[in-house]
Amino acid sequence: MRKGKSKEKREVINGIELTPGGVIRSPGSTSATKTGNWRSERPVIDSSKCTRCGLCWTFCPDAAIRKNSNGYFEIDYDYCKGCGICASVCPVKAITMQKEEK
Ligand code: SF4
Ligand code: SF4
Repeated sequence: MRKGKSKEKREVINGIELTPGGVIRSPGSTSATKTGNWRSERPVIDSSKCTRCGLCWTFCPDAAIRKNSNGYFEIDYDYCKGCGICASVCPVKAITMQKEEK
């Protein structure tokens, strides 16, 4: 335990002192935290333009795009943060970013 720092209990793993935030106690638990309300813009897919190439799904950093039973892609707005990467990589401009209405 370092002196003069937080009084929070620190763990030592393999001789390394970790702060509490550095320990993943339940892998996968972040799926319980819906982060979609951070968004100021939402991606909207025009399925009539979509070629089902999957690039949006590949590049989404939040795994917020899913393939549906028809082979087209859908946005999971519970987790999409509105970064716009999917719209940037779509080769046929099938995704537009639209201002979020609150
Ligand atoms: S806007 Fe960003 S987070 Fe949302 S679906 Fe597109 S790539 Fe994923
Ligand atoms: S990147 Fe564009 S064309 Fe490709 S699957 Fe996504 S929406 Fe469809």
